[in-house]
Amino acid sequence: MSNVPEIFGCNVFNDATMKERLPKDTYKALKKTIEEGKSLDINVANVVAHSMKEWAIEQGATHYTHWFQPMTGVTAEKHDGFISPTDDGKVIMSFSGKELIKGEPDASSFPSGGIRATFEARGYTAWDPTSYAFIKDGSLCIPTAFCSYTGEILDKKTPLLRSMEVMSKQAVRILRVFGDTTTKRVKTTVGAEQEYFLIDKEVYKQRKDLIYCGRTLFGARPPKGQELDDHYFGSIKPRVSAYMKELDEELWKHGILSKTKHNEVAPAQHELAPIFDTSNIATDHNQLTMELMKRVAEKHGLVCLLHEKPFAGVNGSGKHNNWAISTNTGKNLLDPSKNPRENTVFLVFLAAVIRAVDEHQDLLRIAVASAGNDHRLGANEAPPAIISMYLGDDLTEVLRSIINDEDYESKSRTVMDTNVDAIPNFTKDTSDRNRTSPFAFTGNKFEFRMLGSSENIGCANTILNTIVADVLADFADELEKAEDVKAAAEELVKKTVIDHKRIIFNGDNYSEEWVAEAAKRGLLNLRTLPDAMPLYCSKENIELFGKHGIYSEVELRSRSEILLENYSKLINIEALTALDMAKKDILPAVAAYIRELAETANLIKSIDSELVTSPETELVKKLSNLLSCFTKKIDALDKAVVGAKEIEDVAANALYYKDSVLSAMNELRVVADEMESNMSSKLWPYPSYGTMLFNV
Ligand code: ADP
Ligand code: MG
Repeated sequence: MSNVPEIFGCNVFNDATMKERLPKDTYKALKKTIEEGKSLDINVANVVAHSMKEWAIEQGATHYTHWFQPMTGVTAEKHDGFISPTDDGKVIMSFSGKELIKGEPDASSFPSGGIRATFEARGYTAWDPTSYAFIKDGSLCIPTAFCSYTGEILDKKTPLLRSMEVMSKQAVRILRVFGDTTTKRVKTTVGAEQEYFLIDKEVYKQRKDLIYCGRTLFGARPPKGQELDDHYFGSIKPRVSAYMKELDEELWKHGILSKTKHNEVAPAQHELAPIFDTSNIATDHNQLTMELMKRVAEKHGLVCLLHEKPFAGVNGSGKHNNWAISTNTGKNLLDPSKNPRENTVFLVFLAAVIRAVDEHQDLLRIAVASAGNDHRLGANEAPPAIISMYLGDDLTEVLRSIINDEDYESKSRTVMDTNVDAIPNFTKDTSDRNRTSPFAFTGNKFEFRMLGSSENIGCANTILNTIVADVLADFADELEKAEDVKAAAEELVKKTVIDHKRIIFNGDNYSEEWVAEAAKRGLLNLRTLPDAMPLYCSKENIELFGKHGIYSEVELRSRSEILLENYSKLINIEALTALDMAKKDILPAVAAYIRELAETANLIKSIDSELVTSPETELVKKLSNLLSCFTKKIDALDKAVVGAKEIEDVAANALYYKDSVLSAMNELRVVADEMESNMSSKLWPYPSYGTMLFNV
């Protein structure tokens, strides 16, 4: 392994490189843009572009690309060479400020949700100087925003940047009320823990479902799953370890603070966690991390699966979005400090989050909705689809004392003594953790645990920032008018907690009782994307996003349409894949096995004509029955897919895919899995669950 501090960030045009290479005044001007959001002069951009290019060429780059995040969910890039012809038939390498600031990809081939007709193709990408440029595969990648010719945004970065601005503005207002005159900006910070599966590439190549859909559509349960809890934090196998080491090295070179790695609960499942950064950079880095995870896997003869539910019967993968708010001087506003009861500023921010989560359950649910994530949230694993908050005993007690106008005695940290002299004593945290909560306070940050493993975290963070900023704006309006700020703030916190305490739940979120209790409390339970999405464009939400300049109504409607359409398209691909596998591989394999068995049965009968039946005959009967059932299910799924074409409305179409197509697929699978369990594994056309999960 190379010297880590030496290689860290070597592929990044980061602050140190800028400081070293840019003229002083250029560096200063750029820094102002990065830290204070000041707009950038073209002359400055020219100097930066030149320096970036020189640096990139030294690193072996020949191209540049505006690296952006369209609504497809994956990053996009179009590579342009630095070459520019000269009169003598040669080329020089050039790159101007104009080229750095703006690119013009064809926008018509990206999802726009009806904003753009295909003949109106122009789109723009605009450089985001707050996220460093980097080199990937011989190209200088410039993180950028993406919008249409008419100015509507078409990406996931722009709304996130907007929401960070809004958050900063409203949080600073609150700080000013409390006499803070020095904080210039407030940033939201994010650490995204990423789960993933690793399987052998040769095995992967034999599964059409994994290739086309990223998840298995068939597969009988293996004898062993995750019931022994022996994979979580288990020792890492050499092949996986070699992968993780190279991945870390690649991530570090790209300036990504990869910190933690371990085996997860399901067999073949792992996790990577970076050290947190600003929401914007954390989002870019998570996108890049996912890409590098896949790329490095290839080199090791492995495939990295980022789908939320690649395998039935074992845990799926998610992404924990750790989120906090901090000032430009580095103070974390969600840190309760030693005595939270007296920490009014903290309580105001805490109350804002509580109210935001309660008032906007719909948006938080929508923020994490995807066809893949429906398999987790709507099912019996991971957090449930119901949004609630975990605050822990300590903070809950603080809030209780506020509601009841009681004093609160701050718990001092107790010492843990293991009764083994050789083990040093240590202080215990003041509250325990709750692994089942979708939105948990974890000491000095909130952990939003509902995100799917493949999702762009930009959406969830845009929504999180916007809804909290909206409440802070309301709080600021009220507190700015108050004569006695402390008294008014305490009253505000008390009232907010009383009004919104239904959202706080410290118990087991997986239990049946909670589903009933949540319904009693009037909390939403939106199990799937088609259930949740219609709420996106409600009057309240159009107003909310409009008020803070995050999305115009047109943008919001386009987003909703893209998400619904994408859902239907994905399920359609899954259905077609299932049909292809069923008709072309599974059916012929079972028929061949039946023939083999029947021939054996006949042979036995020819030896002993008295014999009425044989195990082979019994199995032939069983499999024939299953096969006839299977062909009926194939017909049903075929019909369901055709039926979808008749429904034009996008929301109705998505609902149809969920209710008719997905359920027909599930029924087909049940029969296939039953046949697999009764078949010769030699004749089954695909690697089994056991082979996929326990092979690396
Ligand atoms: P866990 O037990 O869930 O793994 P950790 O304490 O190890 O929790 O942290 C998980 C993630 O939270 C890490 O990515 C870490 O960098 C991030 N994190 C810690 N502090 C903050 C913060 N103030 N803002 C955002 N993320 C944070
Ligand atoms: Mg976590």
